[in-house]
Amino acid sequence: MAETMMLGNQAVARGLWEAGCRFVSSYPGTPSTEITEYVSEYPEVYAEWAPNEKVAVEAAVGASVAGARAFSGMKHVGLNVAADPIFTAAYTGVSAGLVVAVADDQGMHSSQNEQDSRHYARAAKLPMLEPSDSAECLDFARRAFDLSEAHDTPVLLRLSTRVSHSQSRVTPSERQERERRPYQKDAGKYVMVPAAARVRHAAVETRLTALTEVAETSAFNTVERHDKRIGVVAAGIAYQTAREALGEKASYFKLGMIWPLPEASLRAFAAEVDTLFVIEELDDFIETHCRKLGLAVQGKALFSPLGEYTAEQVRAVILGTEAPAQTPAAIPGRPPVLCPGCPHRGLFHVLHKMKLTVTGDIGCYTLGASPPLSAIDLCICMGASVSSLHGFVQVRPEMAGQTVAVIGDSTFFHSGITGLINMVYNKSHGTVLILDNAITGMTGHQQNPATGLTLQGVPTHKLDIEALCRAVGVGRVRVLDPHDLAEMEAALREELAAPEPSVIVARRPCVLLPYVKRETPLAIDGPNCRGCRACMNIGCPAIRTDGRVMTIDRSLCVGCGLCARLCRFGAIHPEGEQKA
Ligand code: SF4
Ligand code: SF4
Repeated sequence: MAETMMLGNQAVARGLWEAGCRFVSSYPGTPSTEITEYVSEYPEVYAEWAPNEKVAVEAAVGASVAGARAFSGMKHVGLNVAADPIFTAAYTGVSAGLVVAVADDQGMHSSQNEQDSRHYARAAKLPMLEPSDSAECLDFARRAFDLSEAHDTPVLLRLSTRVSHSQSRVTPSERQERERRPYQKDAGKYVMVPAAARVRHAAVETRLTALTEVAETSAFNTVERHDKRIGVVAAGIAYQTAREALGEKASYFKLGMIWPLPEASLRAFAAEVDTLFVIEELDDFIETHCRKLGLAVQGKALFSPLGEYTAEQVRAVILGTEAPAQTPAAIPGRPPVLCPGCPHRGLFHVLHKMKLTVTGDIGCYTLGASPPLSAIDLCICMGASVSSLHGFVQVRPEMAGQTVAVIGDSTFFHSGITGLINMVYNKSHGTVLILDNAITGMTGHQQNPATGLTLQGVPTHKLDIEALCRAVGVGRVRVLDPHDLAEMEAALREELAAPEPSVIVARRPCVLLPYVKRETPLAIDGPNCRGCRACMNIGCPAIRTDGRVMTIDRSLCVGCGLCARLCRFGAIHPEGEQKA
């Protein structure tokens, strides 16, 4: 087939399809989301969004045991959620191949931490492959299934933001259709009661030894010999950065399989070069392994454990070239904010105005923490808003009447629901606000159990959030329009005064959904504006000031009218109706 350009994530999807994968279950998370979106375009693959990563992996394990090649994709923090089934799937092994992709986010472009997923491969004793460009994304995704079946193991495929979201050349092939493997009942292999698990643990250790041999001999790991005064060991995007920085001034041991790591071949490479560097973003994972082998390597003593590396930084460290001058950024930094016209912006204004303590969650509504809304006090991980509200008010019962949790609809299904069950079970006093925007917003509009549509847009059962909350035992559940600020404030006062758990569902669809109608943009009457800046308090990016004159950027304004309701001087009107 002809060579073409593909995104890394698109190439992973293509590799899954070519490998004959039949089942995909994932949870969206930047930078991994597009793998599942692209794979859903192949009719031969059943693909779905799961409510969280643990469910997704458990579904993929079931599909593998049932005999179909299966896949699950997630971002790095999602691997924490999925760790429970993954560690035991390492013991059960697979029937048909099972591949789990995890996309790390070096530099935290859209994540709450910068964890290094390679530690999971080591801890779970699973093989991990790491491609460095789109061609390898396709190739490694395809070959991961063969590795999985040959060694009876789930295989982890590690990606990074730069690899997932960069385009480079790939040469696609045809799909290798695979019949389902026959299902064989085998409780000793698949039912991990202690007696069986003890046997399987021994099998896992034996498998790891066999996989180390694969690492020594397979084409996943390659050596490029150039100038032997400098040797570099690197994988993934760090290899690309090192190659760009040093070109043929160094020789490279490029790792495509980053766990288990080879021993003999790394020793042999170290013996060939004068000075050996390990270049790896985040933790000293490869370096530690090399040191354990007794190799004299240089790594984190020279390179930062923080963020992404640039070729200039690598050149400066290894070749001693001038460090890049800190040139001022060409464009001003723009911290993420709620979109202009976000239907839930006003709610944060109310929370701020009422001086409530707010436990927040992951997604669009983390952005309620940004000034001037400044409405979030704590944000840990998906679902944590509800459970940390419970802990907070248990310790400070005197604040129960002024503390709320805020969580989006998709995040509530991901893992907020268990926190709500805990609140009811343990007799908490606290109010949970579920901000239902009728989509999974921040990752780019993925469907979820309450949208009534599947990943493919096919109608399905639409989960009833209010009924769900009542079913777990919440006695006080009400639905409000977040545009009605006065009603929202009154409802909050009532629910916070109630000595029992309560839920307010604030319901309005995301303004970016195609069916949401936009109103006429608003404009400010110059003569009537007193410059009081009350309209700035909602932090809408469409409202601007040069220090004297207030204006509304008509290209951003969706006419939601929130600012007009905050203006006590009636200076904001639909465009064309203003007085001057
Ligand atoms: S994506 Fe939708 S819900 Fe999220 S901040 Fe923007 S408008 Fe609000
Ligand atoms: S709230 Fe009204 S009067 Fe005050 S700055 Fe904004 S437009 Fe002008």
